[in-house]
Amino acid sequence: MIGDYTFSIIKPNAVRTGKSGPIMAMINEAGFEIAAMKMIKMTKEQAESFYEVHKSKPFFEGLIEFMTSGPVLVMVLRHENAVEEFRKLIGATDPNKAEQGTIRRTFAVSVQMNAVHGSDSDENAQKEANFFFSTSERFL
Ligand code: UDP
Ligand code: MG
Repeated sequence: MIGDYTFSIIKPNAVRTGKSGPIMAMINEAGFEIAAMKMIKMTKEQAESFYEVHKSKPFFEGLIEFMTSGPVLVMVLRHENAVEEFRKLIGATDPNKAEQGTIRRTFAVSVQMNAVHGSDSDENAQKEANFFFSTSERFL
């Protein structure tokens, strides 16, 4: 059950430039079901907490500034082997290293503005989903 869910964010650059629809189409076409979804503007505190594992990295400050720069779409997605399958669909962190046909290769504009987030483990997927959604906001 827990392995069937992942958590995703359509990042501010992609929302701002009208890529939410095309990205959602790719997610739907790949067979993911939407278990929860909403548009929010992250606070600095939320973004810092969400990316806490990267706190000591040189890109941290820029990342927080970027992730709070405008609204994002947060969502919980259901699919068999969801975490791994979704990481495959989005491609490598650096869009230049992401495979053809992946979401990041298609929509990212830089390593930082790489269009989407996808959880990296079942444990983090659950943690991240619970960070943004209450049980009454989840439908699958
Ligand atoms: N990031 C960045 N510069 C880097 C590496 C990462 O700005 O050199 C940003 C990028 O938006 C990335 C996020 O930090 O998606 C989290 O990094 P991570 O290594 O966890 O990559 P992901 O799991 O998102 O592929
Ligand atoms: Mg990561």
